[in-house]
Amino acid sequence: MLTNSELTDFVNKISLESFNRTFKHKAFWNSRLRTTGGRFFPKDGHLDFNPKFAEHPDFVKIILHELCHYHLYYAHAGYKHENRDFKILLQQVGGSRHAPALTPRKINYLYSCENCGQEYPRQRKIDTRKYRCGKCRGKLKRVIRKV
Ligand SMILES: [Zn+2]
Ligand SMILES: [Zn+2]
Repeated sequence: MLTNSELTDFVNKISLESFNRTFKHKAFWNSRLRTTGGRFFPKDGHLDFNPKFAEHPDFVKIILHELCHYHLYYAHAGYKHENRDFKILLQQVGGSRHAPALTPRKINYLYSCENCGQEYPRQRKIDTRKYRCGKCRGKLKRVIRKV
C-alpha cells in the first residue's frame, strides 16, 4: 500500500489529470472510516481515505469524488452532495456517487502446516514445493479446494 505521502502525490496526479488543478493539501489513510471510501475536511483541506478500498478497482473514482468536494469548496461553489455544482462536476469527471461495495475476499484454498498446524487461507493455488510455513518453515498441505 502507498504511504501517506505517496497517496498525496497520487491524489495530486489525479487532480492534475482530471481537474487541471493542483491538490495543495495532504491525503491520509484513515482506518477508522468504515463504509465510506473517503472524506474531505473543509477546516484544513485534507482528505482521508479508507485503506480497505486501497486495492479496489474503483479507488480512483473515490479520489475523484473527494476532489470534487475539495475543488468546489475552494472555488466557493456548492461542494456538498446535495448541491447542483457537486452533482454536475462529479458526473463530468466520472467520480463515484457512493463508496463502492466491498466484496469480501473469496477463499478458494486452505493450506495448513504439517508441522505446527498454522492455516493459510488463499484465493489462489500455491506451490507447496516452493512455499513453506511462515512460522516454522514446515511443509504445507492442502486442506480444502473449492472452485
Ligand atoms: Zn462525498
Ligand atoms: Zn508451521
